[in-house]
Amino acid sequence: MSDLPDLSRRNLLRRDQSLPPRLPWLVSENAFIDACTRCGDCIDACPTGIIQKGRGGFVELNFDKDECTFCQACVKACKVEMFRGFEQAPWSYWAEVQDNCLTHRGVVCHSCKDACEPRAIAIRPTLGQVARPQLDLDACTGCGACKSVCPADAVKIQTKARPSVTSKAY
Ligand code: SF4
Ligand code: SF4
Ligand code: SF4
Repeated sequence: MSDLPDLSRRNLLRRDQSLPPRLPWLVSENAFIDACTRCGDCIDACPTGIIQKGRGGFVELNFDKDECTFCQACVKACKVEMFRGFEQAPWSYWAEVQDNCLTHRGVVCHSCKDACEPRAIAIRPTLGQVARPQLDLDACTGCGACKSVCPADAVKIQTKARPSVTSKAY
């Protein structure tokens, strides 16, 4: 068990409005903050190396490095019971392309689309403009593969609730 008092854990949670991406299949951020021992076993288990220690020593995912392949290795390596069943969706994260996307400056770029295995990104022609990425939120798994390949660092992986629209143009 960790030596971090419960109160400190709660304060850490309350102060942090913008939560970093956590491990897949977690029951909740609260359950994670309460139960994670910060042992680091999941870091060693992740084949893509995206798990790292963050604030307070708690593990978080770094999609600037690589993607989550949903291999389940981190969950299987963790000795704490704070995960949902693998038959459920791993999380509700989703990708969002920001305004600094190169296509907004007239530069042709397909990097995010090419990296997206679930084909959640289409490059749609726009009249008189360079074609821009369009995201299908229903198809996006939040894997992060589009983030590390973006030459403009224009992709953000959102950890908040998904918008209700089916697809979004940028
Ligand atoms: S293996 Fe589990 S308890 Fe250990 S740092 Fe990772 S999530 Fe926390
Ligand atoms: S599911 Fe696999 S790829 Fe994704 S964070 Fe866990 S160990 Fe890494
Ligand atoms: S997060 Fe994954 S599924 Fe979603 S758009 Fe990016 S590469 Fe595609």
